[in-house]
Amino acid sequence: MRIDALTLEGFRNYRRAALDFDPSCNVIYGENAQGKTNLLEAIVYLSCGKSPRARTDRELLGFESERAQLVGHIFSRERAFETEITLARGRRRKMTVNGVPAKNGAALSDVLHTVFFSPEDLGIIKNSPAERRRFIDLELCQLDKVYTHNLINYNKVVSQRNKLLKEIDYRKDLLDTLEIWDMQMVRYARPVIERRQEFVKELGRIMAEIHGSITGSREKIRLEYAPNVDASVIERKLAGERARDLKAKVSLTGPHRDDLLFFINDIDVRQFGSQGQQRTAALSLKLAEIELVKKRIREKPVLLLD
Ligand code: ATP
Ligand code: MG
Repeated sequence: MRIDALTLEGFRNYRRAALDFDPSCNVIYGENAQGKTNLLEAIVYLSCGKSPRARTDRELLGFESERAQLVGHIFSRERAFETEITLARGRRRKMTVNGVPAKNGAALSDVLHTVFFSPEDLGIIKNSPAERRRFIDLELCQLDKVYTHNLINYNKVVSQRNKLLKEIDYRKDLLDTLEIWDMQMVRYARPVIERRQEFVKELGRIMAEIHGSITGSREKIRLEYAPNVDASVIERKLAGERARDLKAKVSLTGPHRDDLLFFINDIDVRQFGSQGQQRTAALSLKLAEIELVKKRIREKPVLLLD
């Protein structure tokens, strides 16, 4: 697949820009702060409705823009597609593929799949668990519509439950409603945990192979999913930790606190790995991601190297 053209309006530092790309490889160069990373971010956003670095969509709007629009001309599955995303301050974003409204980012991923590699990715092992979850989600949301659906709902439930935990503090009568949110949380958390488990297992297998060849088999790497709670016991754990949640006024149990662990020759890389080992492991992880995607979508994803 490839992206043939892109127009950006009101997105980050782009007032308006129209770009045509070469079908093979494109090099984008320029001074610092000219908008190279922003451009790559726009392409990732067009592929899944998620930014690899922004926390909210609001950040993507130009400082002086009320509205931002991205239009991409994409060639994939032997067809041409036009995808469009419009963001506006204080309003829901609109996304379409060939003029047909897309419910969520998954519909975009059907058309364009990106693997983004940023300099920060080299630090993924040392960075916070949130960065590692973002890595998993950015990829899984492109690969799996059902996952996207469950994750969106899960995140909504967690934020509602957190709100409730704060309200209960001064409205004890609301305590009974907590149970309902717990049920919803279990409902969406389970498939999220299970899918992550499966994904990390497959990714880990490919990664071990790649890492072995990079290091001339000197290092054996193991990738491990570290769920905050196992899918099979989440219901029980939520009930058991209720008092703790009420005290903290925030949900402490669930896949929103998952992590990934890396081991080289059975030693925890995050804790004991050298900087070079951490970087090589990060590289193996990204290369494994590309391989996994190629296998799954039977096309080459658009590779973005920042
Ligand atoms: P470098 O080579 O240093 O990595 P770059 O070309 O990748 O630079 P970008 O990270 O794309 O640069 O950022 C370009 C500029 O966009 C920055 O000066 C930043 O302040 C600006 N910028 C970021 N977000 C917004 C926004 N929401 N609205 C307007 N400008 C923004
Ligand atoms: Mg940059």
